[in-house]
Amino acid sequence: MKLIILGPPGSGKGTVAERLEKEFHLKHISAGELLREEVRKDTLIGRDIKPVMEKGGLVSNQLVSAVVKLEVQNKKQYILDGFPRALEQAKGIGELKINKVLYLDVPLNVVVERLAGRRVCKKGLHNYHINYLPPKKAGKCDWDGTPLLRRKDDAPAAIRERFRVYQHETRPVIEYYRKKGLLLTVDATPDPETVYGKVKKTLRLK
Ligand code: AMP
Repeated sequence: MKLIILGPPGSGKGTVAERLEKEFHLKHISAGELLREEVRKDTLIGRDIKPVMEKGGLVSNQLVSAVVKLEVQNKKQYILDGFPRALEQAKGIGELKINKVLYLDVPLNVVVERLAGRRVCKKGLHNYHINYLPPKKAGKCDWDGTPLLRRKDDAPAAIRERFRVYQHETRPVIEYYRKKGLLLTVDATPDPETVYGKVKKTLRLK
């Protein structure tokens, strides 16, 4: 299966994708993570995109599309998390033959609270929430023991910008896939366990 997960910042795309990867061996490809990796490695691309990412803006369509296309090459089963996020990106991946698009629908007031409490391990690989998805040991990643940090783009001004961008750029992508008949919507307001159960049912995974 080739699956896209869409939803506002903080809707739980990364958490759902991580669990699907573990249980069903679908490769989790996070556009944001691929871009953050460039920033962490301080590559030329990384230096270029760091300011726009920290402010919560979108990286250029051309660049992000190239990075993602490189990553999906020769893979038959994967989940695209956070890509496409703009109509131009969606129109440019027709050749990937995506099977399903999962839309995690959640009201904005709920996601603002989630983002404020979100923490990510120093390696940037595992997500937590101080109330809803706490680590076993406070402040430490369950998987690699690295300290848990707040992402720069989870600061209040960056969160506001990410929502503005989401409304303008990403909403049309949801409508694009709805019209194509690929969109499956799940209410992502409840706790992570409940949402994950609903996702599996909706995707007909057992
Ligand atoms: P995420 O981890 O999905 O929240 O993405 C973090 C940041 O990476 C976003 O705020 C954007 O700056 C950038 N980014 C991720 N995916 C895309 C995309 N599809 N198009 C443009 N920028 C993106």
